[in-house]
Amino acid sequence: MTSSLQSELAAAIRTIENYPKPGILFRDITTLLGNPRAFRRSIDELVHPYAGTKIDKVAGIEARGFILGGAVAHQLSSGFVPIRKKGKLPHDTVRIAYSLEYGVDEMEMHRDAITPGEKVIVIDDLIATGGTAEGACKLLKQMGADIVAACFVIDLPDLGGRKKLEALGVEVRTLVE
Ligand code: AMP
Repeated sequence: MTSSLQSELAAAIRTIENYPKPGILFRDITTLLGNPRAFRRSIDELVHPYAGTKIDKVAGIEARGFILGGAVAHQLSSGFVPIRKKGKLPHDTVRIAYSLEYGVDEMEMHRDAITPGEKVIVIDDLIATGGTAEGACKLLKQMGADIVAACFVIDLPDLGGRKKLEALGVEVRTLVE
């Protein structure tokens, strides 16, 4: 990925200070999604390493991972699996607790969403501490998924998320820091 593309994508992301809490710099991708060129180039860049590879499913993490993951799944002719906050999915689910910056929460996927051995890419907008993506990867692995990579538009490298996923044996790809 060229540094000019990285700069273009970084410039398309809006930063909001003190949201949702004092001291947080919120990286808002709605401006990137609303920019046709930046949106297309982000999806192209997420897809590019897997073009011509059989990826059975793209797993998107609620909520911004649904938008990016849906577009990636379409490009790769893959299925899409939503990983949701607890209580939102209508059928039989599997659930896992995951750590947030302060406290824990739970996420779920449908029990029949993955057939063991399927090749899966995990997508979210941003990796910070990695707690959310780690939960998603553990859940997918429990269901027998073969996780090819976890991909994010934004990495906050100081928070150590990449290392957490790599410790699980998951390859991490990010577009901008
Ligand atoms: P983490 O579990 O700490 O890696 O946090 C990742 C999840 O929280 C992702 O779903 C992000 O959308 C969201 N998130 C965490 N920190 C930020 C931030 N500074 N700006 C925007 N979203 C964030």
